[in-house]
Amino acid sequence: MMNITYQVKNAVYVNLTNRCPCDCAFCLRKNGTGVYGSGSLWLEREPTVKEVIDSFAQWNLSQYPEVVFCGYGEPTERLDTLLEVARWLREHHPYLSIRVNTNGLADLIAGEPTAPRFKGLVDALSISLNTPNADEYLAICRPRFGVAAYPAMLRFAEEAKEYVPKVVMSIVGEPVTSLEKQAACQAICDRLGVSLRIRPYERITRS
Ligand code: SF4
Repeated sequence: MMNITYQVKNAVYVNLTNRCPCDCAFCLRKNGTGVYGSGSLWLEREPTVKEVIDSFAQWNLSQYPEVVFCGYGEPTERLDTLLEVARWLREHHPYLSIRVNTNGLADLIAGEPTAPRFKGLVDALSISLNTPNADEYLAICRPRFGVAAYPAMLRFAEEAKEYVPKVVMSIVGEPVTSLEKQAACQAICDRLGVSLRIRPYERITRS
């Protein structure tokens, strides 16, 4: 059975795809088959919109404040599906908050600007900034788009704040990110007009 949805703390998470344009050195996918005790998040195949919606039936969504598109891959690899599921959630569970955890490369994946498409369907975006340094980003995240990735990610974050109420860029705290780099990340976020979240370092992490 595929784990299309799973629970993390008090949220229901959605696992749409195992595809990702990055190959991050720290990616959980390198280190195991599951996350947060949910069992394997490797998908036999990518679930349809109906399969995702059917999968919600195993959760009493009225008991949860939030649904998060995350999973073992980059959810915006399936942006059409993601937004269709989000639209269904809006219609049937309008009180739910909808978040997308992303590497911020949706525009490069789609080959066009995508931020406007999130309007009204997504409440929060959590974008992995990882580092204030474009060269270091390239070395750590190894995006298949090469040097185009880092500026595209920043541009996406800046544009998204026009359409998504809460846009947060995230980094991991010390020792992964020095205080000096944390300050540089804060300066980037201030310039873009988005928030910065510094996640505590865990031995294994992901976006
Ligand atoms: S950490 Fe996230 S962005 Fe990086 S390779 Fe893994 S799924 Fe992709």
